[in-house]
Amino acid sequence: MIVALERIRKTYQSAEGEVEALSDITLEMEEGTFLSVVGPSGCGKSTLLAIIAGLEKASGGRVLLQGEEVTGVSPLVGYMPQKDELFPWRSIRENVLLGLELRGEKNGERRAAVEELLQRYGLADFADAAPRQLSGGMRQRCALIRTLATDPALLLLDEPFSALDYQTRLSVSDDIHSIIRREKKTAILVTHDISESISMSDAVAVLSARPGRLKAVHELTEFRGLSPMERRDHPHFHAWFNTVWKELELGV
Ligand code: ADP
Ligand code: MG
Repeated sequence: MIVALERIRKTYQSAEGEVEALSDITLEMEEGTFLSVVGPSGCGKSTLLAIIAGLEKASGGRVLLQGEEVTGVSPLVGYMPQKDELFPWRSIRENVLLGLELRGEKNGERRAAVEELLQRYGLADFADAAPRQLSGGMRQRCALIRTLATDPALLLLDEPFSALDYQTRLSVSDDIHSIIRREKKTAILVTHDISESISMSDAVAVLSARPGRLKAVHELTEFRGLSPMERRDHPHFHAWFNTVWKELELGV
């Protein structure tokens, strides 16, 4: 999946007047790469993902997926929202099958693939359990597998770890990183956490405070092939952290 954002702008109309959320975002991603978008709260990160997914309409500019302009909800995209949003009354299996069910493909050929995903990622024994019986980390894994179930070409992850405590976040980010790598997905992760952005992806795009503008894109070539844990131990990790931190805090 090749992703191109061309001069994306977004202005919301609210009771208090216009809110400019995003300003002139231009960005390209190659097939199979993982991009993090980091920026302060309220800078328009969720808005950007919603526009890429076709859930929200840009006020200007356009999104191209594989050369085709996004004009509505795209079947090429798997979107994992900020909260895991698993339905409490559905079992883990029924939650994971939701996307296929909505497409009328629940009994199709993807069904076996979903059972395999549950197996491969340690959820098979919990398939008949309710979400509340699982730990926060396992629920996040379940939400990711639900997103993978429809085999989307592009994965969009909106702060998937923000509800987890620090220890769990470290292990779940390792977990989710390896799942995305293994499934060979093109992915965009948005976060306000600098360490998370550097530990997960091939490149980090830095957004300014609202209205979100693109300040820099850093290619993390030297970290390719390393897990998030290995990156956090890498001698250059803090130098990257400081670079991004200065761009965010000092507005340089
Ligand atoms: P982030 O995900 O980076 O925290 P958001 O994309 O959620 O930021 O929001 C960016 C800005 O747009 C915020 O100021 C927010 O209040 C505003 N905003 C988001 N959604 C709406 C909406 N539906 N109507 C009006 N304002 C909105
Ligand atoms: Mg958000």
